[in-house]
Amino acid sequence: MLRGRVVVAAVAVGAFAAAAAGQTLQSAAGSSSDDIVPLAGTRDASSHMGGMGGDGPIAPELLTLAKTSDGTLEAQKMASSERVTQARNARAAEVQKQKEEAARPKAFKPTVGRLTSGFGARWGTTHYGIDIANRIGTPIVSVADGTVIEAGSASGFGLWVRVQHADGTVTVYGHVNDYVVREGQRVKAGQLIAHMGNRGQSTGPHLHFEVWDASGRKMNPLPWLTARGISL
Ligand SMILES: [Zn+2]
Repeated sequence: MLRGRVVVAAVAVGAFAAAAAGQTLQSAAGSSSDDIVPLAGTRDASSHMGGMGGDGPIAPELLTLAKTSDGTLEAQKMASSERVTQARNARAAEVQKQKEEAARPKAFKPTVGRLTSGFGARWGTTHYGIDIANRIGTPIVSVADGTVIEAGSASGFGLWVRVQHADGTVTVYGHVNDYVVREGQRVKAGQLIAHMGNRGQSTGPHLHFEVWDASGRKMNPLPWLTARGISL
């Protein structure tokens, strides 16, 4: 903007100076086509004026008038045009954000590894989740957007993280070695929340993953994941 004003003022100055110096307006306009030249042109004008003599005291006033009227109009146009550009850029950024949000995956595998145990009866009791085995430290992510409702110790699981999702469903990540989220924290689908461990009643490094419906009933995680496009 500032540079724009300077150039506009310089054009006015250049035009006046050219007329005062008896040059053609054509040549002044030509010399003003570059951003830098008009400034040199202004200096040339004053030297022309100096050469003419006697007109010195009048010329600066005329120059000021020309500069003010033209500069203000042009500055208003430019400011208005800049506001239009800013509004257009803001709209484009918003559209881009919406596209990215729409394209962002909303479901993730909780971790990578070998499915070693499914949901249901096991060893004379019920296994309320699925087990995925891998090395200690393997990243564990939230399977969907949600809020961490618990991150800490849990009987049998050593340490666990529980995330509640928009529909009230809670996903549970047990036996973790450590967690990197805190209670109340909002998490995105695929966001790192913990690392695989072997804490609590565990027979080797694995993630114990559960899905509770809004009423707290423990569901088979596999069809729940499959319904969201996730297969293990
Ligand atoms: Zn388990």
